[in-house]
Amino acid sequence: MSKHVPISFEFFPTKTDVGAEKLRTVHQELQQLNPEFFSITYGAGGSTRERTLAAIYDFYEKGTPVAPHLSCIGDNKQRIAELLDLYKSKGINRIVALRGDLPSGQVGLGELPYAQDLVRFIREHSGDHFQIEVAAYPEMHPQAASFDTDIQHFVEKVSAGANAGITQFFFNPDAYFYFMDRVQKAGVDIPVAPGIMPITNASNLIRFADGTGAEVPRWIRKQLQAYGDDTQSIKAFGHEVVLNLCERLLADGAPALHFYTMNQTDPTRQLVKDLNLA
Ligand code: FAD
Repeated sequence: MSKHVPISFEFFPTKTDVGAEKLRTVHQELQQLNPEFFSITYGAGGSTRERTLAAIYDFYEKGTPVAPHLSCIGDNKQRIAELLDLYKSKGINRIVALRGDLPSGQVGLGELPYAQDLVRFIREHSGDHFQIEVAAYPEMHPQAASFDTDIQHFVEKVSAGANAGITQFFFNPDAYFYFMDRVQKAGVDIPVAPGIMPITNASNLIRFADGTGAEVPRWIRKQLQAYGDDTQSIKAFGHEVVLNLCERLLADGAPALHFYTMNQTDPTRQLVKDLNLA
């Protein structure tokens, strides 16, 4: 019998019609696993606005619960309010609220410099219409001045009105449980879903990790290196590592899992099936 653990799947909007068609297929395949919602990323400064909207509508029209990501850095309140009104008018009621990262060359933080400002603005503008998810960093946000201040800023996002968290990906479950312990001691009691990154490609994984401040432990890096171009062995090893991670997280009380699908069906579907969560 499958367990009642909510799962959610993250996609990024594609740039071409061919990519969009492929995403529809992946969406259809993953929908069969009954996720709580699909989320779609949003480029900072609104750079993927139209493509994010297109994918959101596409999935929503098929009866799927969706959560558009919305980032605030470099943007303005009016544009964000328009987007909130649009989502509300369509009946969409969940948002992943983020600061985002400024594209290189762009200066000026905009009217809402941090995610907590965005969360506050969503509550001011739309009341309780949206369930608001925010980002959490068990291994610390790469620009945070210290672990303690990063925890404090997470707590502030929750005080501003966030209902739930989704973490950056990580491979060390102790980091997640320590983070949860710290925020709970600070009075936070919202659920925080671990963000799960399937391992399918060594160079991509290390590039993402370096860009986000997530740590790929030495033993994983070394093993991936040893497999070289042997993609089958990388996938088999990656599956085993991430499956063990998910099992440990769920055994010790993680309330949900959020999968960074990378717009692919198989790695996420295999994990969900082996975890008996479909
Ligand atoms: P914040 O919570 O604002 O934190 C950013 C930094 O500022 C942290 O170091 C924090 O400690 C610090 N800080 C916060 N408040 C204050 C304050 N008042 N004063 C001083 N410092 C402060 N990016 C995208 O562009 N689009 C996406 O769709 C997207 N989706 C994501 C989904 C998830 C689940 C995650 C984990 C990340 C995602 N990101 C996305 C990346 C994210 O935008 C970056 O990590 C960004 O650098 C921080 O966003 P945040 O919402 O965590 O920011």
